[in-house]
Amino acid sequence: MNIATRLTEIKKILPDNVVLVAVSKTKPVQDLMAAYNAGQRIFGENKIQEMTDKFEEMPKDIQWHMIGHVQRNKVKYMAPFVALVHGVDSLKLLQEINKQAEKNNRIISVLLQVFIADEETKFGFDKNEISEIFNSDFKNDYKNVKIEGLMGMATFTDKQEQIKEEFTTLKNLYDQFATANDLTVLSMGMSGDYKIAIDCGSTMVRIGSSIFGSR
Ligand SMILES: *Cc1c(COP(=O)(O)O)cnc(C)c1O
Repeated sequence: MNIATRLTEIKKILPDNVVLVAVSKTKPVQDLMAAYNAGQRIFGENKIQEMTDKFEEMPKDIQWHMIGHVQRNKVKYMAPFVALVHGVDSLKLLQEINKQAEKNNRIISVLLQVFIADEETKFGFDKNEISEIFNSDFKNDYKNVKIEGLMGMATFTDKQEQIKEEFTTLKNLYDQFATANDLTVLSMGMSGDYKIAIDCGSTMVRIGSSIFGSR
């Protein structure tokens, strides 16, 4: 199957309220254009340099999502155009995004990344830190960012029950703060686990290899 066909097959499965981020990291522009020509307009990258290069080369109606771990000293390169930063995992990073957004006269949309996995390697806030942020005066402290919701990655495992538990934990946390803080995005689910994520209440899935092939 080619990229356009795989994309179409996935879109058929997704409920109407679930947004698809096509994760195109490491893939050449030509592959992204195949998805673009099949109607895809939201692409996810995990390296700022690569996303910026692709942004410059590709049509301007694309929404670029930064899904990876962000180095603070590189925020300035994506600040003029990034549509959504999924992986905000520290207040220092939030501060830097706010600063660069202000310089660009923009309000940058972000998601707070929550650590839900049973692994050492995944970034994110814990539940208590998320509570602290939403109970703080963050709208005043970070006037040029808009916290749109939460993002999380489940443990890389084939234990379906564990993945379900982790996504449910994230969904419950989201529900606790969504209404009061006007949150609309719960980003969870990748190629291997997006069906479980959707069952658990995901509103945004980040799918790479199932569209573009393995990396
Ligand atoms: C690479 C990546 C994805 C997509 O992974 P696939 O398994 O290829 O679908 C999703 N989210 C994040 C944060 C990633 O880094």
